[in-house]
Amino acid sequence: MLALQGDVREHLAALRAAGASPRPVRRPEELAGVAGLVIPGGESTTISKLATAFGLLEPLRARVAEGLPVYGSCAGMIMLADKILDPRSGQETVGGIDMIVRRNAFGRQNESFEAAVEMADVAGGPVHGVFIRAPWVESVGASAETLAAYDGHPVAVRQGNLLATAFHPELTGDHRVHALFVSMVRAAGR
Ligand code: GLN
Repeated sequence: MLALQGDVREHLAALRAAGASPRPVRRPEELAGVAGLVIPGGESTTISKLATAFGLLEPLRARVAEGLPVYGSCAGMIMLADKILDPRSGQETVGGIDMIVRRNAFGRQNESFEAAVEMADVAGGPVHGVFIRAPWVESVGASAETLAAYDGHPVAVRQGNLLATAFHPELTGDHRVHALFVSMVRAAGR
């Protein structure tokens, strides 16, 4: 669990509920020991700047390139995008998913809303999507797969071992998205 900023506690609880044994990652040595990583929701510019300050950005890119499973929600989705449409100055991403994201895409009036979202790879009916100043995916490249869309925009994307959602399943009692990610981590470790 990348624990620099954001809703770390909620993700830790959801990961435990999904059967994982998460621990916080703040230093490169801690990153080296994990089999998968979650990047939380929060503020993507802050997470980016802290990752750079903590010497984690390059190690993160290197582990993603090696195939480390990573799940990012909201700000975490932004961190996994190869490109941000409207980056703030000094804002970097880890990248890995061939997509362009638009930050705060759903607009100020609709800063937060909730909606049922049908998500491929998650059985048992729609997930309850909590969108908080959420990004959407402006465009997805050929190597990335859209798992869910809302209002015509991709809001859940997977590419290989990388998973990203614009919404926050960690804020609901529904752990199916975390369970999907835990299964991706287990599959990658086999
Ligand atoms: N709008 C935030 C950002 O740009 C993301 C919001 C969130 O993670 N809830 O980073």
